[in-house]
Amino acid sequence: MNNFARVQEKLEILADAAKYDVSCSSSGGNRKNTPSGLGNSSKTGICHSYTEDGRCVSLLKILLTNHCIYDCAYCVSRKSNDVKRAAFTVDEVVDLTINFYRRNYIEGLFLSSGIFKDADFTMERLVRIANKLRTEHRFNGYIHLKTIPGASPELLDEAALYADSLSVNLELPTETGLKLLAPEKKREDMIKPMDHLKNGIIKYKEEKKIFRKVPKFAPAGQSTQMIIGAAQENDLQIIKVADHFYKNYKMKRVYYSGYVPVLEDSRLPSLNTQVPMVRENRLYQADWLMRFYGYEANEILDSSLPFLDLEVDPKLGWALRNLDKFPVQIQAAPYEMILRVPGIGVKSAKKIVSSRRFQQLSLEHLKKMGVATNRARFFIDFTFGNPYLNQLHKTHFRKILLSGTHTKGQQLLQTQLSLF
Ligand code: SF4
Repeated sequence: MNNFARVQEKLEILADAAKYDVSCSSSGGNRKNTPSGLGNSSKTGICHSYTEDGRCVSLLKILLTNHCIYDCAYCVSRKSNDVKRAAFTVDEVVDLTINFYRRNYIEGLFLSSGIFKDADFTMERLVRIANKLRTEHRFNGYIHLKTIPGASPELLDEAALYADSLSVNLELPTETGLKLLAPEKKREDMIKPMDHLKNGIIKYKEEKKIFRKVPKFAPAGQSTQMIIGAAQENDLQIIKVADHFYKNYKMKRVYYSGYVPVLEDSRLPSLNTQVPMVRENRLYQADWLMRFYGYEANEILDSSLPFLDLEVDPKLGWALRNLDKFPVQIQAAPYEMILRVPGIGVKSAKKIVSSRRFQQLSLEHLKKMGVATNRARFFIDFTFGNPYLNQLHKTHFRKILLSGTHTKGQQLLQTQLSLF
């Protein structure tokens, strides 16, 4: 096998193994090439992510190796799994990145890895790749490095100097889940690097305010990922963990990866049980509410309601459970409450608050501001206009509330929504 074919084979194995990591947004495309066509989106491990300034960039997403000394039950690369193994050399990853970049296939690199020998042995190679790209090739594209739990602080500092963003996977939301499915791993080996990175990022931002030139330290921040549905955690536990990491570790993003059954193991859900995609979506929506809409985890779910409703998004779900807080007076309510109206987003809430000072707003105005009025109109009051809507929603929602179960209520709401 010649060198090109060998690298090509490694690329197929290690890009495929990297697809389970969702700490960057993947295109998920599987378009194949055609005889007269150009390119394909399925094989080369190219995915998309967002930079510090919100640009969408395409990344080469690969593992350095899928060899691993650990045996995490949920992982396709675990040492006891009988899969084809491969490992890139440092130079191979550097050359692939530069070649793909020159051909305009990618704008950056997302590099993760199984653990070769120990955490530092692997981390040192990841750092060496980023170092070579930045210093020898003057590569200015985006680099995301996955840090290896248990890696030393010195290597983390060096990684943060070259990479735009870093992530440490939390793997499982709770310690109980980790003990069950990845007993060789310690929670503290994940927390320590997160804490170290948090402090470095804070220091970097502070110094940047004072000095013109400061050595970079993961300027696009740190993120983490949790696997959902491999252990028995409920959504309340998951969003509380996410909330904790946003508040205490300055996470840029927490990613939720629905467990993909790849292995038979009595500790795991059976092979034909797939986490519904909608559960991941609902978790991302709840996450969004906590980060941008001012909701606390305990408001979205509580011990009497530990799972997110798969039929209704969490914002509408909260509104339906808190109808006494509605209708919201669009002309006078505080911004925080306007933001809680289903169908009103952050941008439109800001527009409402700034424009209501100069005029009496109507449903038409809200529509022009981008409000989903088919949903919002049940929850708002214009003071001078549309009094019939208030009458309607009071009556209907009271009925919904008194109709018994939560699901029955949603069905009724769906019927109400379809009437307008
Ligand atoms: S340490 Fe990472 S790569 Fe290795 S088995 Fe566990 S999850 Fe998989």
